[in-house]
Amino acid sequence: MSVAKQLYQLQEVDLELDSDEKALREIASQLGESEAVIEVRNKLALEQQRLEELARQQRSVEWEIEGITSKLTTAEKELYSGRIRNPKELSNLQHETDGLKAKRTELEDKVLEIMEQVEITTKNVAALDSELKELEAEWQSQQQELSARMEQLKATVSTLKHKQQLLTAEIDPQVIEVYHELKKQRGTAVAKVEQGICRGCRISLPITELQRARSGSLVRCSSCGRILFLA
Ligand SMILES: [Zn+2]
Repeated sequence: MSVAKQLYQLQEVDLELDSDEKALREIASQLGESEAVIEVRNKLALEQQRLEELARQQRSVEWEIEGITSKLTTAEKELYSGRIRNPKELSNLQHETDGLKAKRTELEDKVLEIMEQVEITTKNVAALDSELKELEAEWQSQQQELSARMEQLKATVSTLKHKQQLLTAEIDPQVIEVYHELKKQRGTAVAKVEQGICRGCRISLPITELQRARSGSLVRCSSCGRILFLA
């Protein structure tokens, strides 16, 4: 086998390795927490907090109502007991019970408002909870796919690296050095020759270069410098 052909094979292995390693890096960046999941999880936590806060408010207003009701009962008992005869005192007591009733109505309205908010927030929590479950399931299956793909790629990369070692060992180290230098400069070090044209730079090659390449010697394109490989 000509050195050019060996180098071309090495290049094919290297190119595949490069692309597999790039794919591996991309997968690695996609593994881990999903931003969409985190966002919905945070929203859900906020709504749940709000629900707890509303429940606390409701309890507190209800306690206030209980307190007022008990005061009102005492005041009304007093008012209708017949024990108080002083008109001024009676009028004061009447005034007090009216005030308590008004306050109680106000608080009862407040409870209704809170209950409305509780209803809305409960719906929000349920919607976010199901959205989160859906997203998490989707994310999980995506992660599983990615992990499986990653394992495949790792196996391929390891096979390719082995091939790379074998091919490299067969080639003169100085030639390998030239190959790596060209690869760094041009992206690819070896160019196929098709119909007398270097596929690396699409220049028609002089007949003498073609003849030398055909004879098996290592020839570099006079235009782009790549090592020429005649298939
Ligand atoms: Zn060329």
